[in-house]
Amino acid sequence: MRFTPQDEQFRADVRAWLAANLTGEFAALRGAGGPGREHERHDERLSWNRHLAAAGWTCLGWPTEFGGRGATLARQVIFHEEYARASAPARVSIVGEELLGPTLIAFGTTEQHKRFLPPIKAVTELWCQGYSEPGAGSDLANVATRATLDGDHWVITGQKIWTSLAHVADWCFVLARTAPGSRRGKGLSYLLVPMRQPGVTVRPIRQLTGTSEFNEVFFDGARTDAANVVGEPGDGWRIAKATLAIERGAAMLGLQVGFRRDLENLLDVARHTEAGQDRLLRDKLARAWIGLEAVRAYALDTLDGPSDKAEASVLKILWSRWHQSLGELAMEVLGPSSAIARGEPYDLDEWQRLFLFTRAETIYGGSDEIQRNIIATRALGLPRPEDP
Ligand SMILES: Cc1cc2nc3c(=O)[nH]c(=O)nc-3n(C[C@H](O)[C@H](O)[C@H](O)COP(=O)(O)OP(=O)(O)OC[C@H]3O[C@@H](n4cnc5c(N)ncnc54)[C@H](O)[C@@H]3O)c2cc1C
Repeated sequence: MRFTPQDEQFRADVRAWLAANLTGEFAALRGAGGPGREHERHDERLSWNRHLAAAGWTCLGWPTEFGGRGATLARQVIFHEEYARASAPARVSIVGEELLGPTLIAFGTTEQHKRFLPPIKAVTELWCQGYSEPGAGSDLANVATRATLDGDHWVITGQKIWTSLAHVADWCFVLARTAPGSRRGKGLSYLLVPMRQPGVTVRPIRQLTGTSEFNEVFFDGARTDAANVVGEPGDGWRIAKATLAIERGAAMLGLQVGFRRDLENLLDVARHTEAGQDRLLRDKLARAWIGLEAVRAYALDTLDGPSDKAEASVLKILWSRWHQSLGELAMEVLGPSSAIARGEPYDLDEWQRLFLFTRAETIYGGSDEIQRNIIATRALGLPRPEDP
């Protein structure tokens, strides 16, 4: 991927805007949020996210007719790079902006576009993803949550689990079984369900990091308008898989460039401690730097066009493994004291949170083993494992 002089001008504009706006009340938000630190200053980050939106810095990649800027991939990369370089806070709108928005643009009706896209762009409605269930994680086609039509409404009953940010979300896109007695991917529908109603209960799950980024979500006769189904009823599996492909591919772009900030920060620690003198650690830090260059090169190479070679799965494995090993390296750089909480009862620093939260990265968005199954079948032509 090459950056043109116009792209570099765009980079200068992004940099200047961030420098001028990450000031005043927003200055203290630098570095806030991120993996394992989603609880940090949520309300202030929401204000910042709306400030970004008002200046047209959300939904850059959406086509202009849907309210986006129609930014090329190169410019989206530039935006994310500059955003990370400025240590701007983690955005709270990612699920709507990066997962549901593109899915709706591809599969939604004109009415759905009009109803749902503007509040995603303005960050006035936040979303969560209701796929996984206690019996349907890797084996997502086993979804048991049911929805039936009752006049003008879908009525939804069932349980979702590991639902990131459900506690702050206004809406959830829910994979539910709408054809009674159907099996596997058949008979599923992709429903848009309001979270703030009596039929929805959200229970936080405490994670290794001590925080609760994800939740259990119970639907007990929850309702949504009959029109809030994306695609045809029964076509939900195809649409759910399209969202997953986005999740494993382009949507990770922003996340990955934040990795550079993590690496830079760790290098800074090593430069100012004895770790920087340790030959083995120097070697590992250099390898980490090379590894990130490789991830970036692969990401740019594969994100430039559609892929039928399981490239999104390769990328998912590359970045999640890289980030996980960075967490491990951070523990080595900080030495034995890194195993001790900073305060009572369980007060972790950013490196401890990074080390612990990155465990999750080889699980969410499809575990490593599942990505390898995809690579084995799609890229290597090995036989498909039989459905259980
Ligand atoms: C931090 C975090 C955030 C998440 N956020 C969301 C969210 O917002 N919304 C949502 O819907 N879900 C979310 N998830 C859930 C995530 O998608 C699932 O955890 C994941 O798909 C794995 O499912 P599972 O946990 O049920 O594990 P299981 O499917 O039970 O897997 C257990 C183990 O068996 C392995 N395994 C399973 N099947 C196979 C197979 N066929 N071949 C080889 N190995 C196999 C897995 O790789 C894993 O190691 C999140 C998870 C995490 C950790």
